[in-house]
Amino acid sequence: MGRVSGKVAIVTGGASGIGRACAQKLAAQGAAVCVTDIDTQIGDAVATQICESGGDAMFLEHDVTSEARWQEVVTSVTATYGKLNVLVNNAGIFYGGPTETFELEQWRRQIGINLDGVFLGTKHAIPIMRVAQGGSIIMLSSVAGLIGAANFACYSATKGAVRLFTKAVAKECASDGIRVNSVHPGIIETPIWQKINNDARPEPTGPVEIAKARVPIGTPGTAEMVADGVVFLASDESKYMTGSELVIDGGMTA
Ligand code: NAD
Repeated sequence: MGRVSGKVAIVTGGASGIGRACAQKLAAQGAAVCVTDIDTQIGDAVATQICESGGDAMFLEHDVTSEARWQEVVTSVTATYGKLNVLVNNAGIFYGGPTETFELEQWRRQIGINLDGVFLGTKHAIPIMRVAQGGSIIMLSSVAGLIGAANFACYSATKGAVRLFTKAVAKECASDGIRVNSVHPGIIETPIWQKINNDARPEPTGPVEIAKARVPIGTPGTAEMVADGVVFLASDESKYMTGSELVIDGGMTA
């Protein structure tokens, strides 16, 4: 028996990094997983690989900023699997830079993916989970949603907002048996570090160097380490947890 056997999960941004590890670990622990992403090629390969390893997965192309597409994704998952128990609101981008030169267009784009996307997913998951009389919604926030960092203002604004959105919805949905928790990774070695815009590159630059300088454990975390926390929050092992923050940061914010 897997730790999430019989559950149906959606993982947004599931083509890469933390999302991919969450999809793989949830499937390995018995969940049927719908992997969604804007990157169709890699996303489809993740679902295929899960199926080839004996798991149950499907892929859907999905831009989390589109409410119409969210409705289609939730409808498609319930049509295929009959229910939805777990939503991992993982899709996110990092775009940084000094506030005084930050473009409004970039601000809106980052808010659109990191915050609007989380709101829309939560909005459309709640009615389906209520029918199933329970569910677990897991938000990928960040240590940047707990403490500030220079040149991270917009990213921090999105992740801090996700943190309190989580707590508010947790209180709203507790009597329906729907649990809502946030996860706060620190420095995790994933492809997101290669996508950082050059004018926002922190000093020192890479995750290994940053971890050496700022993380008590001394090394970056892996996507799998974060996914272990997500599987715990998805499973009934965390049944008395809602509105809480799971920090996975090697001691960075201790
Ligand atoms: P990643 O870049 O490896 O993966 C992010 C995925 O999201 C990609 O597959 C990308 O295609 C997808 N995506 C981007 N825009 C999308 C959209 N509009 N709709 C749907 N999918 C979209 O990044 P990651 O490191 O795995 O990050 C996953 C989450 O964890 C993010 O929310 C990120 O902010 C958070 N996080 C990461 C770290 C870290 O150090 N890697 C630390 C803290 C928090």
